[in-house]
Amino acid sequence: MIWTMEKIMTGTNGGFGLGPIDAHVHLCLDGKSSPRGWSRRRWVMRPFLAAAARDIGLQGGFGGRDFDRRYLDRLVGWLEGSSLSAAVLLAYDWVRDSSGSPRKDLSDLYVSNQAVFAAARRHSKLLPGVSIHPARPDAFEELERCADQGAALLKLLPCVQNVDCNERRYKPFWKRLAELGLPLLAHTGGEFCVRSVRSDLKSPACLRLPLECGVTVIAAHCGTRALPWDGDHFRTFLEMRDCYANLYGDLSPLSHITHLASLERLREDPARLLHSTDYPVVSAVFPSFLKGWVSRAELRRLNAIDNPLEKKIQLTRAQGFPECVFTDLWELLPNRVVRSFQHQQVN
Ligand SMILES: [Zn+2]
Repeated sequence: MIWTMEKIMTGTNGGFGLGPIDAHVHLCLDGKSSPRGWSRRRWVMRPFLAAAARDIGLQGGFGGRDFDRRYLDRLVGWLEGSSLSAAVLLAYDWVRDSSGSPRKDLSDLYVSNQAVFAAARRHSKLLPGVSIHPARPDAFEELERCADQGAALLKLLPCVQNVDCNERRYKPFWKRLAELGLPLLAHTGGEFCVRSVRSDLKSPACLRLPLECGVTVIAAHCGTRALPWDGDHFRTFLEMRDCYANLYGDLSPLSHITHLASLERLREDPARLLHSTDYPVVSAVFPSFLKGWVSRAELRRLNAIDNPLEKKIQLTRAQGFPECVFTDLWELLPNRVVRSFQHQQVN
């Protein structure tokens, strides 16, 4: 009854201050000013990074002087200027071999857990999403340390970081993750921005063991394609969503031509979907206009929104997804993290 009253009084699913939340936002660090992060600028990605920099309004582009500060300031500026209550800022562990040793030669991006905690301490709307390869010799210690410090969730990219989540030796790790109440946000489907070392791990089927261990799993991108020639794992996502009540999908950055067929299906059955952008990945409005989901006037209005975080919220709403996709993540995060967030917003 008390919960019902609270829900009525606040008008949201989660309570005071718990408005829209973006489940999937990236931190980027160039490794020049601190060992807390690193990135490789592959030549093949340069035109795409230049386009992304234009789209997110990142003066000076990716790389160049003072990149780490410019990138985070730009992100925080957009977050403050949006209708979001919060965004989960993601760490990014190294690609690792089966013994858990880092393979920098195979990695394109690294963001330490300390880096996301440091950013979250400075900006209260950022929640730390940590990344720990379960083969790391210190995986359990790092998991406990991160949970103690207020981690909101665990992020992994199985196909990129070489994490076969179904390996039996990881069972105790998933069980502990479930006990700690930390969701697992796992990349599924096509990957465009960084290299994949195990294409077989793009399928949501690789998430069965954590699901069976009771972990709340969020399949980023719902197993969809990034490029037209990618394998499509969307059907597997739908089948598994029917089987596992603890499987969710995130909507990042589902807006491009390659996503239209999947988006159509998700609009018909929007069960357990969560709003997210995959910032700095760009969302597109025009394909939704082509499908007739947004009018010409809506197309103009949405394209006039400079703030990429806000644009994706309004696009998702215009596409017809229910309001709960913006706030349901609050119900999945550890209670202590949500309470501490609310406490900070009040003070
Ligand atoms: Zn991402």
